[in-house]
Amino acid sequence: MMKDLRFRDRAKAEELARLIARLAPEEPVKLVHVCGTHEVTITEFGLRSLLPPQVEILEGPGCPVCVTPVKHIDEAVALAEQGHIVATFGDMARVPGTHQSLEDARSAGADVRIVYSVADAVELARKTDREVVFFAVGFETTAPTVAAAMLDGVPENFSLLVSHKLIPPAMAALVQGEHDISGFLAPGHVSTIIGMEPYKIFPERFGVPVVIGGFEPLDILYSIALLLRQLRKGEPKVENAYTRAVRPEGNLKAQAILAEVFEVTDHYWRGMGPIPGSGLKLREEFAAHDARERFGLEVESNEALHPGCRCAQVITAKARPDQCPLFQKACTPRTPYGPCMVGEEGMCHIWARYGGRPKL
Ligand code: SF4
Repeated sequence: MMKDLRFRDRAKAEELARLIARLAPEEPVKLVHVCGTHEVTITEFGLRSLLPPQVEILEGPGCPVCVTPVKHIDEAVALAEQGHIVATFGDMARVPGTHQSLEDARSAGADVRIVYSVADAVELARKTDREVVFFAVGFETTAPTVAAAMLDGVPENFSLLVSHKLIPPAMAALVQGEHDISGFLAPGHVSTIIGMEPYKIFPERFGVPVVIGGFEPLDILYSIALLLRQLRKGEPKVENAYTRAVRPEGNLKAQAILAEVFEVTDHYWRGMGPIPGSGLKLREEFAAHDARERFGLEVESNEALHPGCRCAQVITAKARPDQCPLFQKACTPRTPYGPCMVGEEGMCHIWARYGGRPKL
């Protein structure tokens, strides 16, 4: 994230904190964001310490690595064991599957390469005769770059193991039925692609306010103030507090590219279960580059989290990392026990990275 000092001004932060204190109701308020970058800013700058005690902010399912189902990891491991090159992002390699992670498979001799983008994986395929499979993980922010690569043309020996997920259906899963979520701080990056429209179901159907927020400390404090103002007025709506990056309609070109390459499908979210319409799969025209079609993958997976891991509660904003008895004991960034500690955008990993339990 690029630093923008205009949005880190201490005096303005204190002014916003006073405004938040004035707007906060007396009863508890639980705000939920769904973005690892938001959590990093909140934790790094100690923003929770500026909030009144009755206002809590937690991370929902905002870490793509944490919510990737075991089955998809098992499929990636199976492809690596078949002798293909599997290209993936660094923290994805460490997430445990049913029997092993991609990192374990690499230690056992499989060819697993760490890449920084889909372009790196395509380039790798151009330089070899072997099959290269890119493990395509991430939300609406990363999926368009993968779609663009497919439209640009990829070599015959390149395929995708698609595990892209969509944020609004996962947010909707959090407020189906009984819940205690007072408002959503919607992710700025995802919103640059999808715009404001997909969030309208939250105020309209669930009565839950949404504010799209940027990533600097003042962005987040301002967004929290707007959420509290909506709660105080009793008029939930979708507001855009990140107008310097998010247009109401989003990025229409990226949306068109996405729709050309992918179609929406049901997906399983680790710690949350199946969520209708929450994932992407390649369209039929790209079946030749779909690793599942191409290599006829069949794996037996166990989606259960390790005993004692409270990641399912952390991902659904029902628990803080320090409420897990294993946090910073059996589970650390060096010895991750659950997916929320493996993914660098996971709340457990972020809290541990910044020194444990942040001042609340
Ligand atoms: Fe799971 Fe580790 Fe987080 Fe506990 S600290 S919830 S074991 S990831």
